[in-house]
Amino acid sequence: MTYSKFQRHIAEQIGSYDTFKEHWLDWRWHIQHSVRDVATFEKVTGIKLEDEFKKNVSRTIEKFPLGITPYYLSLIDVDDYYNDPVFKQAFPVPEELIVEPHEMADPLAEDQDSPVPGITHRYPDRVLFHVSNVCAMYCRHCTRKRKVGDVDSIPGKEEIERGLAYIAEHPEVRDVLLSGGDPLMLPDAYLDWILTALRNIPHVQIVRLGTRMPVVLPYRITDELVAMLRRHHPLWINTHFNHPRELTASARQALARLADAGIPLGNQTVLLSGVNDCQRIIRSLVHKLVENRVRPYYLYQCDLSEGLTHFRTPVGKGIEIMESLIGHTSGFAVPTYVIDAPGGGGKIPLNPNYLISLSTNKVVLRNFEGVITTYQEPNSYEPIFCNRQCRDCRLQLKLEDAEESKATGIELLLSDYDPTISLTPENNSRMERRGEDG
Ligand SMILES: *Cc1c(COP(=O)(O)O)cnc(C)c1O
Repeated sequence: MTYSKFQRHIAEQIGSYDTFKEHWLDWRWHIQHSVRDVATFEKVTGIKLEDEFKKNVSRTIEKFPLGITPYYLSLIDVDDYYNDPVFKQAFPVPEELIVEPHEMADPLAEDQDSPVPGITHRYPDRVLFHVSNVCAMYCRHCTRKRKVGDVDSIPGKEEIERGLAYIAEHPEVRDVLLSGGDPLMLPDAYLDWILTALRNIPHVQIVRLGTRMPVVLPYRITDELVAMLRRHHPLWINTHFNHPRELTASARQALARLADAGIPLGNQTVLLSGVNDCQRIIRSLVHKLVENRVRPYYLYQCDLSEGLTHFRTPVGKGIEIMESLIGHTSGFAVPTYVIDAPGGGGKIPLNPNYLISLSTNKVVLRNFEGVITTYQEPNSYEPIFCNRQCRDCRLQLKLEDAEESKATGIELLLSDYDPTISLTPENNSRMERRGEDG
């Protein structure tokens, strides 16, 4: 393990130089010495901020707290801090107080889709389970800023038990996503208790954990933690790297520990103006991720949360980035670009268009190079008109293995066995007129 001069300097400023090595690797030390005010930030980094800026920033901090681990702070390039992707993700700016009319405290309606506190049940077969509302580092672009440092939303043991009971009572839930806050802020034993309880629910097939610890505090990924986690397989972990600079030697070591324990790793990146809205940066990021056995999972369009305007890019930037990835690099290095629908519609994937035209037996496509090509479809395809009588169907679905679900939405419109021919939005004035007439 090597340490940068800057890391040594930070620890010295915080006041534990004597036992630098011992403390620097202790994740609890980083949490206890998290930088939470501007004066400490200036002292520790040696950065001198302008008075006017500091005055405005202090108002931001009253609303959205500041919290940076000494480790993450040590990644800042102090000579060019204002353009630094780490600084921009960690340090508050006055723009966070600007709330535009279309912005919302809870744009994804997570609280509305919450049957019991702590659970968001949006999709048919999986739930989000908020088990912590604190993080090692407060990301300035957090979509759940409304909850950060909000004492009322710290989930207690009783609330967790209610969440577990909800999951146990809903056999359709086969996938539980532990989120927060950061679930790895919980002590190992507490997390072990939650995972054990989930594992005791027979219909929960997989558990996922979303954490930014490998990025902001990789020393949290201790041998003891990993030994505990691997007892709860199948367990998947998604992390949140936004810039290639974040993949330090310490971060890579944390990822290797998790991967060596057989935990499949994914990454969710948020597209952020001034941080990573560049094809070359995202390409470098996804390549570094796969090199470290992390599969790029989602590239998020920045949510409409309050105070994030300065971070948002046009959707075209995301499409342009996807255009530069698809075909140009390994398929598994390409994340899915999504917009999480405001109002709670869930994630909507977006891609460049590849389908140019089609006839009854031919499709015209273009590839990543701009080559236009055709795909000849079969001239005789015998469709199976499905009436959901699987017992009589020649496709041999073993009914005891069938995960039965009723088709909904567009899948329902496409089906042969349901008479629904259209979906009509609420408040459709034509339907209202019909109602009036009869
Ligand atoms: C993102 C999300 C999930 C998981 O979605 P996947 O596409 O399966 O990763 C589940 N519930 C909620 C509320 C989510 O926002």
